[in-house]
Amino acid sequence: FMNRTIELVKTIYEIKQLEAFDEPQIALAGRSNVGKSSLVNRLAGRKALAKISSKPGKTRSLNYYRVQPDGYFLVDLPGYGYAKCSKQERLKWAKLIEAYMKDNQGLKAVAVLLDSRLSPQKIDLELTAYVRGLGIPVIPILTKADKPKQRELAQLQKQWQDILQQDRAPVLFSSKTGKGEEKLWNRLGEYAGL
Ligand code: GDP
Repeated sequence: FMNRTIELVKTIYEIKQLEAFDEPQIALAGRSNVGKSSLVNRLAGRKALAKISSKPGKTRSLNYYRVQPDGYFLVDLPGYGYAKCSKQERLKWAKLIEAYMKDNQGLKAVAVLLDSRLSPQKIDLELTAYVRGLGIPVIPILTKADKPKQRELAQLQKQWQDILQQDRAPVLFSSKTGKGEEKLWNRLGEYAGL
């Protein structure tokens, strides 16, 4: 079991702050409240590295974390799909994400977090289609996997596997129990080219 560390190296809020990094990157995307901050904190082995949102949709920044000793970046994208978000804010999100993802040679995959308690949501289907359309691999992760029954989880895994046309089932992950942590690390490292 390798001891990894995650360190926040950069936070950006606007397109003009984007910079090209030499290191391979894996982006983390998901709807607000899907459990993204909890996942980052779990991977970091810390409680409060990424802010756990009491108010969903609040974090509008892109956070670059360096994973050591591997050396690649995890790039935490702002959550999407928050109902109370204005149209203007949504457009701003889309533009920032588009600017980040397009022509980004360092971006090796997008890990898309999906709530394991919900059937595939339209907005998640749109995001995964967009990412795949750019030729970027999607790593599906079913979050809060401590909640549903085993049989429901297996069904949802199969459903997403069919949608994404992948050989492997989505990673089942729980920040609460640590389920899937090692599998997730392995998959991230694989796509990061390690
Ligand atoms: P974010 O908005 O995607 O960053 O989501 P958060 O990490 O802030 O989590 C949203 C809510 O889901 C919080 O109330 C968390 O306690 C809860 N949550 C996150 N991960 C898990 C998990 O693995 N299991 C369970 N049962 N709840 C979780």
